[in-house]
Amino acid sequence: MRRKPLNTASRSKLSKYAKPLASLAILLADAGSRLERRFWKKKLFAALAPMLEGRSDTTLMQTLDHLYNTNYRAYDELAFAIENTVESPELGQEEDILLLAAPVLAWSTYNIPSGKIEEATVAEFTALLQKNVLSDHAHLVLTNMLFSPDQLPESYTAAAELARQLGQAAIDRVKVRIDTENLPATQSFLSDVRYLIGAISVPAGQPAFKWQVEAHSNGTLLSKEEVLVNWRLTGGQALQKIMPGCLLELMLPNGLYNACREAEKEARAYSVRASAAFLESALDVPTQKIHASVGAFVDRGEIEEYRIGFSVEGNSDIVHGVVWPLIGEEYGNEPDPVYEKDIESEPDNPVIRSKIEALLKEVGIRQIKVLEERFPLEYCEDCGSPLYPNPEGELLHAELPEDSELPNSMHLH
Ligand SMILES: [Zn+2]
Repeated sequence: MRRKPLNTASRSKLSKYAKPLASLAILLADAGSRLERRFWKKKLFAALAPMLEGRSDTTLMQTLDHLYNTNYRAYDELAFAIENTVESPELGQEEDILLLAAPVLAWSTYNIPSGKIEEATVAEFTALLQKNVLSDHAHLVLTNMLFSPDQLPESYTAAAELARQLGQAAIDRVKVRIDTENLPATQSFLSDVRYLIGAISVPAGQPAFKWQVEAHSNGTLLSKEEVLVNWRLTGGQALQKIMPGCLLELMLPNGLYNACREAEKEARAYSVRASAAFLESALDVPTQKIHASVGAFVDRGEIEEYRIGFSVEGNSDIVHGVVWPLIGEEYGNEPDPVYEKDIESEPDNPVIRSKIEALLKEVGIRQIKVLEERFPLEYCEDCGSPLYPNPEGELLHAELPEDSELPNSMHLH
Protein backbone atom coordinates (compact mmCIF):
# COMPACT_ATOMS: atom_id res chain seq x y z
CA MET A 1 0.00 0.00 0.00
CA ARG A 2 1.44 3.27 -1.13
CA ARG A 3 1.53 6.21 1.21
CA LYS A 4 2.54 9.75 0.80
CA PRO A 5 6.26 10.16 1.38
CA LEU A 6 7.58 12.68 3.81
CA ASN A 7 9.21 15.96 3.14
CA THR A 8 12.51 15.57 4.93
CA ALA A 9 15.80 15.32 3.11
CA SER A 10 15.50 11.84 1.74
CA ARG A 11 19.04 10.79 1.04
CA SER A 12 20.59 11.94 4.26
CA LYS A 13 22.61 9.42 6.25
CA LEU A 14 20.58 7.26 8.60
CA SER A 15 21.02 7.87 12.31
CA LYS A 16 22.27 5.07 14.57
CA TYR A 17 18.69 4.58 15.76
CA ALA A 18 17.19 4.49 12.28
CA LYS A 19 19.67 1.94 10.85
CA PRO A 20 18.55 -1.15 12.82
CA LEU A 21 14.90 -0.26 12.18
CA ALA A 22 15.47 -0.02 8.43
CA SER A 23 17.36 -3.37 8.48
CA LEU A 24 14.49 -5.09 10.28
CA ALA A 25 11.95 -3.77 7.78
CA ILE A 26 14.13 -4.98 4.86
CA LEU A 27 14.56 -8.42 6.45
CA LEU A 28 10.79 -8.65 6.93
CA ALA A 29 10.12 -7.61 3.34
CA ASP A 30 12.57 -10.27 2.09
CA ALA A 31 11.30 -13.11 4.29
CA GLY A 32 10.68 -16.31 2.33
CA SER A 33 8.11 -17.98 4.54
CA ARG A 34 5.40 -17.21 7.05
CA LEU A 35 7.60 -18.71 9.73
CA GLU A 36 10.39 -16.25 8.97
CA ARG A 37 7.96 -13.35 8.52
CA ARG A 38 6.52 -13.97 11.94
CA PHE A 39 10.02 -13.94 13.44
CA TRP A 40 11.00 -10.56 11.91
CA LYS A 41 7.60 -9.06 12.56
CA LYS A 42 7.86 -9.83 16.24
CA LYS A 43 11.29 -8.19 16.38
CA LEU A 44 10.06 -5.15 14.46
CA PHE A 45 7.06 -4.66 16.75
CA ALA A 46 9.30 -5.05 19.78
CA ALA A 47 11.62 -2.34 18.43
CA LEU A 48 8.76 0.04 17.63
CA ALA A 49 6.91 -0.06 20.97
CA PRO A 50 9.56 1.82 23.01
CA MET A 51 10.14 4.29 20.16
CA LEU A 52 6.47 5.21 20.17
CA GLU A 53 6.55 5.70 23.92
CA GLY A 54 9.51 8.01 23.63
CA ARG A 55 9.80 11.01 21.37
CA SER A 56 11.22 9.20 18.38
CA ASP A 57 9.14 10.69 15.57
CA THR A 58 12.24 12.00 13.82
CA THR A 59 13.79 8.52 13.70
CA LEU A 60 10.57 6.96 12.42
CA MET A 61 10.16 9.60 9.72
CA GLN A 62 13.79 9.41 8.67
CA THR A 63 13.62 5.62 8.33
CA LEU A 64 10.37 5.73 6.36
CA ASP A 65 11.70 8.39 4.07
CA HIS A 66 14.92 6.48 3.44
CA LEU A 67 13.08 3.24 2.65
CA TYR A 68 10.58 5.01 0.41
CA ASN A 69 13.43 5.96 -1.86
CA THR A 70 15.52 2.82 -1.59
CA ASN A 71 13.30 -0.22 -0.87
CA TYR A 72 9.62 0.30 -1.43
CA ARG A 73 8.41 -3.04 -0.03
CA ALA A 74 10.31 -2.51 3.19
CA TYR A 75 8.84 0.97 3.41
CA ASP A 76 5.37 -0.49 3.14
CA GLU A 77 6.05 -3.10 5.82
CA LEU A 78 7.42 -0.47 8.20
CA ALA A 79 4.55 1.97 7.63
CA PHE A 80 2.00 -0.73 8.36
CA ALA A 81 3.92 -1.93 11.41
CA ILE A 82 4.06 1.61 12.83
CA GLU A 83 0.35 2.20 12.30
CA ASN A 84 -0.55 -1.14 13.87
CA THR A 85 1.69 -0.54 16.85
CA VAL A 86 0.23 2.93 17.37
CA GLU A 87 -3.39 1.76 17.19
CA SER A 88 -2.98 -1.33 19.29
CA PRO A 89 -0.68 -0.66 22.24
CA GLU A 90 0.22 -3.64 24.42
CA LEU A 91 -1.42 -2.97 27.75
CA GLY A 92 -1.12 -6.34 29.46
CA GLN A 93 -1.83 -9.89 28.29
CA GLU A 94 -5.56 -10.09 28.72
CA GLU A 95 -7.00 -7.36 26.52
CA ASP A 96 -6.46 -6.33 22.90
CA ILE A 97 -6.78 -2.60 22.18
CA LEU A 98 -7.76 -0.68 19.04
CA LEU A 99 -7.81 3.07 18.58
CA LEU A 100 -11.10 3.66 16.77
CA ALA A 101 -12.34 6.45 14.50
CA ALA A 102 -15.86 7.00 13.21
CA PRO A 103 -15.63 9.52 10.34
CA VAL A 104 -18.46 11.66 9.07
CA LEU A 105 -18.41 13.70 5.86
CA ALA A 106 -20.21 16.99 6.20
CA TRP A 107 -21.05 19.96 4.07
CA SER A 108 -22.66 23.20 4.96
CA THR A 109 -22.62 26.84 3.84
CA TYR A 110 -22.34 27.65 7.56
CA ASN A 111 -19.58 26.51 9.87
CA ILE A 112 -19.26 22.75 10.30
CA PRO A 113 -19.19 22.18 14.08
CA SER A 114 -16.24 20.59 15.90
CA GLY A 115 -15.06 20.45 19.51
CA LYS A 116 -16.73 19.51 22.75
CA ILE A 117 -19.67 17.09 22.89
CA GLU A 118 -22.07 16.99 25.86
CA GLU A 119 -21.91 14.07 28.28
CA ALA A 120 -25.34 12.65 27.37
CA THR A 121 -24.49 12.74 23.65
CA VAL A 122 -21.19 10.90 24.23
CA ALA A 123 -23.18 8.20 26.04
CA GLU A 124 -25.66 8.03 23.17
CA PHE A 125 -22.93 7.61 20.50
CA THR A 126 -21.16 5.01 22.65
CA ALA A 127 -24.35 2.96 22.95
CA LEU A 128 -25.13 3.26 19.22
CA LEU A 129 -21.64 2.18 18.14
CA GLN A 130 -21.70 -0.65 20.65
CA LYS A 131 -25.07 -1.85 19.36
CA ASN A 132 -24.59 -1.41 15.61
CA VAL A 133 -20.87 -1.66 14.87
CA LEU A 134 -19.00 -3.51 17.64
CA SER A 135 -19.12 -7.12 18.81
CA ASP A 136 -20.56 -7.90 22.23
CA HIS A 137 -17.01 -8.64 23.43
CA ALA A 138 -15.81 -5.09 22.76
CA HIS A 139 -15.89 -2.32 25.33
CA LEU A 140 -15.79 1.19 23.87
CA VAL A 141 -14.65 4.44 25.45
CA LEU A 142 -15.34 7.52 23.33
CA THR A 143 -13.82 10.96 23.89
CA ASN A 144 -16.10 13.95 24.50
CA MET A 145 -15.07 15.62 21.30
CA LEU A 146 -15.85 15.91 17.61
CA PHE A 147 -12.41 16.14 15.94
CA SER A 148 -11.68 18.17 12.81
CA PRO A 149 -8.72 16.98 10.67
CA ASP A 150 -6.59 19.78 12.19
CA GLN A 151 -7.23 18.39 15.66
CA LEU A 152 -6.22 14.78 15.05
CA PRO A 153 -2.89 13.73 16.65
CA GLU A 154 -0.24 15.13 14.34
CA SER A 155 2.54 12.63 14.93
CA TYR A 156 2.87 8.88 15.47
CA THR A 157 3.97 9.33 19.07
CA ALA A 158 1.06 11.68 19.83
CA ALA A 159 -1.38 9.16 18.37
CA ALA A 160 0.30 6.37 20.36
CA GLU A 161 -0.08 8.38 23.55
CA LEU A 162 -3.79 8.90 22.87
CA ALA A 163 -4.19 5.17 22.14
CA ARG A 164 -2.55 4.24 25.44
CA GLN A 165 -4.65 6.72 27.39
CA LEU A 166 -7.93 5.66 25.79
CA GLY A 167 -7.00 1.98 25.76
CA GLN A 168 -6.28 2.01 29.49
CA ALA A 169 -9.60 3.76 30.11
CA ALA A 170 -11.38 1.06 28.10
CA ILE A 171 -9.72 -1.66 30.18
CA ASP A 172 -10.53 0.15 33.44
CA ARG A 173 -14.08 0.96 32.25
CA VAL A 174 -13.69 4.67 32.98
CA LYS A 175 -14.56 7.76 30.91
CA VAL A 176 -12.03 9.98 29.17
CA ARG A 177 -12.48 13.71 29.00
CA ILE A 178 -10.30 15.78 26.70
CA ASP A 179 -9.43 19.37 27.46
CA THR A 180 -11.00 20.92 24.37
CA GLU A 181 -9.87 24.47 25.21
CA ASN A 182 -6.31 24.24 23.92
CA LEU A 183 -6.88 22.41 20.66
CA PRO A 184 -5.87 23.92 17.33
CA ALA A 185 -8.54 26.04 15.63
CA THR A 186 -10.48 24.43 12.84
CA GLN A 187 -10.21 25.91 9.36
CA SER A 188 -13.55 26.43 7.73
CA PHE A 189 -14.38 24.63 4.47
CA LEU A 190 -17.52 24.11 2.45
CA SER A 191 -17.20 20.38 2.98
CA ASP A 192 -15.00 18.58 5.46
CA VAL A 193 -14.60 15.51 7.67
CA ARG A 194 -15.30 15.16 11.38
CA TYR A 195 -14.30 12.24 13.60
CA LEU A 196 -15.56 10.58 16.74
CA ILE A 197 -12.50 9.02 18.36
CA GLY A 198 -12.32 6.31 21.00
CA ALA A 199 -10.67 3.02 21.91
CA ILE A 200 -12.05 -0.46 22.28
CA SER A 201 -10.74 -3.24 24.45
CA VAL A 202 -11.60 -6.88 23.73
CA PRO A 203 -10.50 -10.01 25.56
CA ALA A 204 -7.36 -11.21 23.71
CA GLY A 205 -8.17 -13.00 20.47
CA GLN A 206 -11.89 -12.13 20.48
CA PRO A 207 -13.63 -10.39 17.55
CA ALA A 208 -14.03 -6.61 17.80
CA PHE A 209 -16.59 -5.79 15.09
CA LYS A 210 -20.08 -6.96 14.18
CA TRP A 211 -18.92 -8.08 10.73
CA GLN A 212 -16.51 -10.53 12.34
CA VAL A 213 -19.12 -12.32 14.37
CA GLU A 214 -22.78 -11.53 13.69
CA ALA A 215 -24.44 -14.01 11.31
CA HIS A 216 -27.71 -14.10 9.39
CA SER A 217 -30.08 -16.99 10.04
CA ASN A 218 -28.53 -18.86 7.07
CA GLY A 219 -25.11 -18.68 8.69
CA THR A 220 -23.49 -16.04 6.42
CA LEU A 221 -21.72 -13.20 8.21
CA LEU A 222 -23.09 -9.68 8.28
CA SER A 223 -21.18 -7.64 5.66
CA LYS A 224 -19.41 -4.36 6.36
CA GLU A 225 -21.97 -2.70 4.05
CA GLU A 226 -24.84 -3.96 6.21
CA VAL A 227 -23.11 -2.73 9.35
CA LEU A 228 -22.60 0.65 7.71
CA VAL A 229 -26.28 0.90 6.72
CA ASN A 230 -27.33 0.31 10.34
CA TRP A 231 -24.78 2.81 11.65
CA ARG A 232 -25.84 5.45 9.11
CA LEU A 233 -29.47 5.06 10.08
CA THR A 234 -29.03 5.36 13.84
CA GLY A 235 -25.78 7.30 14.17
CA GLY A 236 -26.88 9.72 11.44
CA GLN A 237 -29.87 10.91 13.44
CA ALA A 238 -27.76 11.39 16.55
CA LEU A 239 -25.00 13.27 14.70
CA GLN A 240 -27.50 15.51 12.94
CA LYS A 241 -28.51 16.84 16.37
CA ILE A 242 -25.00 18.13 17.11
CA MET A 243 -24.32 19.18 13.50
CA PRO A 244 -27.37 21.24 12.56
CA GLY A 245 -27.52 22.71 9.06
CA CYS A 246 -25.04 20.12 7.73
CA LEU A 247 -25.59 17.48 5.14
CA LEU A 248 -23.94 14.34 6.54
CA GLU A 249 -22.60 11.06 5.26
CA LEU A 250 -21.32 8.61 7.86
CA MET A 251 -18.42 6.32 7.00
CA LEU A 252 -17.59 2.91 8.44
CA PRO A 253 -15.96 3.16 11.89
CA ASN A 254 -12.62 1.34 11.96
CA GLY A 255 -9.04 1.52 13.22
CA LEU A 256 -7.82 5.14 13.13
CA TYR A 257 -5.50 5.02 10.11
CA ASN A 258 -7.74 2.92 7.92
CA ALA A 259 -10.83 4.98 8.77
CA CYS A 260 -9.03 8.28 8.13
CA ARG A 261 -7.65 7.17 4.77
CA GLU A 262 -11.02 5.91 3.58
CA ALA A 263 -12.72 9.09 4.77
CA GLU A 264 -10.15 11.32 3.05
CA LYS A 265 -10.67 9.42 -0.20
CA GLU A 266 -14.46 9.69 -0.01
CA ALA A 267 -14.30 13.33 1.04
CA ARG A 268 -12.91 14.33 -2.36
CA ALA A 269 -15.91 13.14 -4.37
CA TYR A 270 -18.16 14.47 -1.64
CA SER A 271 -16.57 17.88 -1.97
CA VAL A 272 -16.99 17.93 -5.78
CA ARG A 273 -20.69 17.12 -5.36
CA ALA A 274 -21.05 19.76 -2.66
CA SER A 275 -19.32 22.33 -4.89
CA ALA A 276 -21.61 21.71 -7.86
CA ALA A 277 -24.72 22.07 -5.69
CA PHE A 278 -23.24 25.12 -3.96
CA LEU A 279 -22.31 26.91 -7.20
CA GLU A 280 -25.71 26.27 -8.67
CA SER A 281 -27.42 27.91 -5.70
CA ALA A 282 -24.90 30.66 -4.89
CA LEU A 283 -24.45 31.83 -8.49
CA ASP A 284 -27.89 30.90 -9.74
CA VAL A 285 -26.26 29.29 -12.77
CA PRO A 286 -27.23 25.84 -14.09
CA THR A 287 -24.43 23.25 -13.89
CA GLN A 288 -24.39 23.08 -17.71
CA LYS A 289 -22.89 26.58 -17.70
CA ILE A 290 -20.20 25.77 -15.15
CA HIS A 291 -16.78 25.03 -16.56
CA ALA A 292 -14.33 22.74 -14.73
CA SER A 293 -10.57 22.88 -15.43
CA VAL A 294 -8.60 19.94 -14.08
CA GLY A 295 -4.84 20.20 -13.55
CA ALA A 296 -2.18 17.85 -12.12
CA PHE A 297 0.02 19.47 -9.45
CA VAL A 298 3.50 18.12 -9.13
CA ASP A 299 6.18 18.16 -6.46
CA ARG A 300 9.61 16.57 -6.94
CA GLY A 301 8.49 14.95 -10.21
CA GLU A 302 5.48 13.16 -8.76
CA ILE A 303 1.82 14.12 -8.77
CA GLU A 304 0.79 15.33 -5.34
CA GLU A 305 -2.78 16.35 -6.10
CA TYR A 306 -5.22 17.41 -8.76
CA ARG A 307 -6.94 20.77 -8.51
CA ILE A 308 -10.25 21.59 -10.10
CA GLY A 309 -11.00 25.22 -10.93
CA PHE A 310 -14.62 26.16 -11.53
CA SER A 311 -15.54 29.07 -13.76
CA VAL A 312 -18.72 30.22 -15.45
CA GLU A 313 -19.22 30.02 -19.21
CA GLY A 314 -17.84 33.09 -21.00
CA ASN A 315 -15.57 34.20 -18.12
CA SER A 316 -12.25 32.68 -17.16
CA ASP A 317 -12.24 33.90 -13.52
CA ILE A 318 -12.18 31.11 -10.97
CA VAL A 319 -15.27 31.20 -8.74
CA HIS A 320 -14.53 28.13 -6.66
CA GLY A 321 -12.02 25.30 -6.43
CA VAL A 322 -11.55 21.81 -5.08
CA VAL A 323 -8.27 20.10 -4.17
CA TRP A 324 -8.16 16.37 -4.91
CA PRO A 325 -5.12 14.98 -3.05
CA LEU A 326 -3.75 11.55 -3.97
CA ILE A 327 -3.93 9.24 -0.97
CA GLY A 328 -2.22 6.02 0.05
CA GLU A 329 -1.52 3.67 -2.85
CA GLU A 330 -2.70 6.27 -5.38
CA TYR A 331 0.18 8.61 -4.61
CA GLY A 332 2.54 9.57 -7.38
CA ASN A 333 2.51 8.70 -11.05
CA GLU A 334 0.85 5.71 -12.54
CA PRO A 335 3.01 3.50 -14.75
CA ASP A 336 1.91 3.65 -18.35
CA PRO A 337 -0.34 0.60 -18.85
CA VAL A 338 0.94 -0.08 -22.38
CA TYR A 339 4.61 0.90 -22.33
CA GLU A 340 7.15 0.34 -19.65
CA LYS A 341 7.36 3.20 -17.21
CA ASP A 342 9.15 6.00 -19.01
CA ILE A 343 10.74 8.32 -16.51
CA GLU A 344 11.22 11.01 -19.15
CA SER A 345 7.50 11.41 -19.81
CA GLU A 346 5.20 13.87 -18.03
CA PRO A 347 3.90 12.57 -14.69
CA ASP A 348 0.37 11.27 -15.09
CA ASN A 349 -2.23 9.29 -13.20
CA PRO A 350 -4.87 8.30 -15.79
CA VAL A 351 -7.05 6.31 -13.39
CA ILE A 352 -7.55 9.19 -10.97
CA ARG A 353 -7.87 11.67 -13.81
CA SER A 354 -10.72 9.72 -15.42
CA LYS A 355 -12.34 9.22 -12.01
CA ILE A 356 -12.47 13.01 -11.59
CA GLU A 357 -13.83 13.49 -15.10
CA ALA A 358 -16.55 10.87 -14.58
CA LEU A 359 -17.58 12.47 -11.30
CA LEU A 360 -17.81 15.95 -12.84
CA LYS A 361 -20.04 14.53 -15.57
CA GLU A 362 -22.12 12.73 -12.95
CA VAL A 363 -22.88 16.01 -11.13
CA GLY A 364 -24.03 17.57 -14.42
CA ILE A 365 -20.94 19.52 -15.47
CA ARG A 366 -20.50 19.19 -19.23
CA GLN A 367 -17.68 21.62 -19.93
CA ILE A 368 -14.58 19.89 -18.62
CA LYS A 369 -11.04 20.72 -19.63
CA VAL A 370 -8.18 18.46 -18.57
CA LEU A 371 -5.05 20.57 -18.87
CA GLU A 372 -1.96 19.07 -20.43
CA GLU A 373 0.61 21.10 -18.53
CA ARG A 374 1.86 20.15 -15.06
CA PHE A 375 1.58 22.78 -12.32
CA PRO A 376 3.71 23.59 -9.26
CA LEU A 377 1.95 23.50 -5.87
CA GLU A 378 1.14 27.20 -5.61
CA TYR A 379 -0.76 28.98 -2.89
CA CYS A 380 -1.98 32.54 -2.28
CA GLU A 381 0.78 34.46 -0.51
CA ASP A 382 -1.72 36.34 1.67
CA CYS A 383 -4.13 33.69 2.89
CA GLY A 384 -2.46 30.39 1.98
CA SER A 385 -5.40 29.26 -0.12
CA PRO A 386 -4.52 26.98 -3.06
CA LEU A 387 -4.53 28.51 -6.55
CA TYR A 388 -6.69 26.78 -9.14
CA PRO A 389 -6.29 26.45 -12.91
CA ASN A 390 -8.66 28.21 -15.31
CA PRO A 391 -9.43 26.97 -18.84
CA GLU A 392 -6.38 28.86 -20.19
CA GLY A 393 -4.09 27.11 -17.76
CA GLU A 394 -3.49 30.17 -15.55
CA LEU A 395 -3.38 29.67 -11.78
CA LEU A 396 -5.88 31.89 -10.01
CA HIS A 397 -7.37 32.64 -6.62
CA ALA A 398 -10.96 31.42 -6.26
CA GLU A 399 -13.33 34.33 -5.79
CA LEU A 400 -17.09 34.44 -6.02
CA PRO A 401 -18.56 37.33 -8.00
CA GLU A 402 -19.72 40.14 -5.71
CA ASP A 403 -23.40 39.77 -6.42
CA SER A 404 -23.51 36.08 -5.50
CA GLU A 405 -25.64 34.98 -2.57
CA LEU A 406 -22.99 33.81 -0.17
CA PRO A 407 -23.91 33.51 3.49
CA ASN A 408 -21.74 35.84 5.58
CA SER A 409 -20.48 33.16 7.90
CA MET A 410 -18.57 31.27 5.26
CA HIS A 411 -15.45 31.76 3.24
CA LEU A 412 -14.31 29.63 0.43
CA HIS A 413 -10.85 28.50 1.31
ZN1 LIG B 1 -5.77 34.67 -0.69
